[in-house]
Amino acid sequence: MTDLFLTSRLTPILEQVKNFILDEIMPLEKHIHKGFHYISQIIIEEKRPKIHKLGLWGLHLSKKLGGLDLSLVEFGQLSEVLALSPFGHYAFNCQAPDIGNYELLHQFGTEVQQQKFMKPLIEGKIRSCFAMTEPEFAGSNPVNLGTTAVLEGDNYIINGHKWYTSSADGASFAIVMAVTNPDNPPHQRASMIIVPTDTKGYQFVRNISVMGDEGEGWSSHAELRFENCIVPKENLIGQAGTGFALAQHRLGPGRIHHTMRWIGISERALDMMIQYALKRQLNIGEKLADKQVIQHWIAECRANINAARLMVLDTARQIDEKGASAVKDSISMIKFFVPKIMHETLDRAIQVHGGLGVSDDTILSHLWRHERPSRIYDGADEVHKSALAKSIFKKYQ
Ligand SMILES: Cc1cc2nc3c(=O)[nH]c(=O)nc-3n(C[C@H](O)[C@H](O)[C@H](O)COP(=O)(O)OP(=O)(O)OC[C@H]3O[C@@H](n4cnc5c(N)ncnc54)[C@H](O)[C@@H]3O)c2cc1C
Repeated sequence: MTDLFLTSRLTPILEQVKNFILDEIMPLEKHIHKGFHYISQIIIEEKRPKIHKLGLWGLHLSKKLGGLDLSLVEFGQLSEVLALSPFGHYAFNCQAPDIGNYELLHQFGTEVQQQKFMKPLIEGKIRSCFAMTEPEFAGSNPVNLGTTAVLEGDNYIINGHKWYTSSADGASFAIVMAVTNPDNPPHQRASMIIVPTDTKGYQFVRNISVMGDEGEGWSSHAELRFENCIVPKENLIGQAGTGFALAQHRLGPGRIHHTMRWIGISERALDMMIQYALKRQLNIGEKLADKQVIQHWIAECRANINAARLMVLDTARQIDEKGASAVKDSISMIKFFVPKIMHETLDRAIQVHGGLGVSDDTILSHLWRHERPSRIYDGADEVHKSALAKSIFKKYQ
């Protein structure tokens, strides 16, 4: 942790949140094999009331909604600490995709949409999901969408096929990206529309098994179908054809949330690596920590994580000051750089733990499986690298 970006109001909150994660949330990890619903129940019944009591509910919210109006730099640092356990964000109701949907509705939702969908979301009474990607089209070029929403009278009629809709299992509504204006230029064809999941024609097909884990509830990724699914035209977010413009607003802050979460995961893995190296005896009087290769791994991971954190917080600072569109290059850079650091750290932590590292007796294998997709979602590594390189070339031309 660097104190370069700490603010006086953040310091005590950060400590309180960290203590809560260590004392109250990490112990839940021993139940991980019982599935997410089991853990979620404990969080909702026992942990969230405690979070309310401590005055720590709604860390991400605006002042008007009872939050602290934290800057992105401040919330980023909380996101790191919340990520020390895979259930930290969920416990504090700051989890993706709900936090992104909250931000979207807060900025662009109508009064009615905010009352009906955003309010219960921030109270933790319901969950939501975001359905853009489709199996038939390359998600890396999301302007190609097969899902359509046709305006007939006062309603949109939605037809389409989505997958990798994270957390759709048990969600109360989906924000669906669908083509509403097929004759517009590519980036102005789609819109975001709220679809309550009990709408006729909304079909939950399955939770996709990802790296051997189907998951459940919030911790899952679904395939969905929309078959003549009718919603009132008032469920449109913003103007028709602004779906991609709205998606851009969602992505800048979202990438800070994700990358700081990955830094938290890297810190957890490094901590486990150090503790195990100091404990594991190879011989009488000789521990793993005495081996130079292990020392080098630990030193490299420490330096990498510190560098990554500075990069991300500096990007967050620039977004706070200039807005996300002014710092696209920095956002691309952290999006591919931080997962690389996280994967290297996780891999080394697993290696140091030997057989124990690949077993499910520690959290490392869960993190490895669940975080591999970080190099694919929110823009695959290659897409961000090419975008950055093109921007660099431009400066030479
Ligand atoms: C765990 C997980 C959760 C997700 N959650 C959501 C969600 O909640 N909502 C949602 O809508 N979507 C979600 N997604 C979907 C995600 O956004 C897409 O998987 C991603 O955009 C990539 O699209 P694709 O899978 O169609 O891959 P494709 O676009 O087909 O790309 C395949 C591969 O091709 C390569 N590639 C692509 N473009 C280029 C390029 N320009 N140059 C070089 N190489 C390239 C990359 O290596 C890429 O991985 C999630 C995905 C995962 C894995």
